[in-house]
Amino acid sequence: MNGYVGRFAPSPTGPLHAGSLVAALASWLDARAHSGQWLLRIEDVDTPRTVAGADQHILQQLAACGLHPDAPPTWQSSRTAHYEAALQQVQAAGLAYPCTCSRKDIEMALALQGHTRTRHAELVYPGSCRAQVQHPMARANAWRLRTEKPPAAHLRWQDRRLGAQEQSVSQSVGDFVLRRADGCWTYQLAVVVDDAAQGISHVVRGQDLADNTARQIWLQQCLGLPTPHYLHTPLVLGADGHKLSKQNGAQALDLSEPLQALNAAAAALGWPAQTGTTGEALAAWTAMAAQAGSPVALPLAPST
Ligand SMILES: [Zn+2]
Repeated sequence: MNGYVGRFAPSPTGPLHAGSLVAALASWLDARAHSGQWLLRIEDVDTPRTVAGADQHILQQLAACGLHPDAPPTWQSSRTAHYEAALQQVQAAGLAYPCTCSRKDIEMALALQGHTRTRHAELVYPGSCRAQVQHPMARANAWRLRTEKPPAAHLRWQDRRLGAQEQSVSQSVGDFVLRRADGCWTYQLAVVVDDAAQGISHVVRGQDLADNTARQIWLQQCLGLPTPHYLHTPLVLGADGHKLSKQNGAQALDLSEPLQALNAAAAALGWPAQTGTTGEALAAWTAMAAQAGSPVALPLAPST
């Protein structure tokens, strides 16, 4: 398939760990198995969480594993003009509005409505600022995307691994933030704008990000952008049974033995260990992924 363009998009909040290498390897294998392109994007829009030098460290780690991109990497911090243009587009269409709510404001509004709706510990925004005609611009405001503009954002899509998915964004998440009050662009906005700008046809990423998919498809529709194919890879669990992440202190990969790190990542995707060079191992897994039509060989766990 010549139109295949995939990507790996790490946040530079620390070095790659075993879990992020699984997502990197899966996206690389899927691109190679489709004879497609594989791009790298550094997602550094959440500036308070960005760690200086982590981006270069990640690029070195990927190179040590033989995962080379087909174009120079891009940095989201250099693309703010594109995010601004996208925000202006939904503002002009009446699809976004300013919100001055603090977390406490949202908690109080939900309590007045008699419930405290949350999704993954995030409060479901009750729409407090949606109907305001005149917005007080005295304090810094966030910009939220409407999810109840008819038709309400109830989305159905197919995940290549998880199967048929659906989510009512308006009920499960509420109108969500595109730009935060501190001026930072959100993950949702930056990913949607960049996936479209880079012509990404296939998104392969960790299952911890699967819950963002409906919001991203809704924003794509609001911006008139195409929706890529999605595949979410199995999570790598730590010894405590929780998913490995930079936040819970997953160790950085030791890349003095890149084949060992790759074999561990491949095992998490269900592929057998290889010997020889990293190049030979990657070629063997690429052939297997091409035959399987998926970068993941593991059957879906019944709990998901
Ligand atoms: Zn508000």
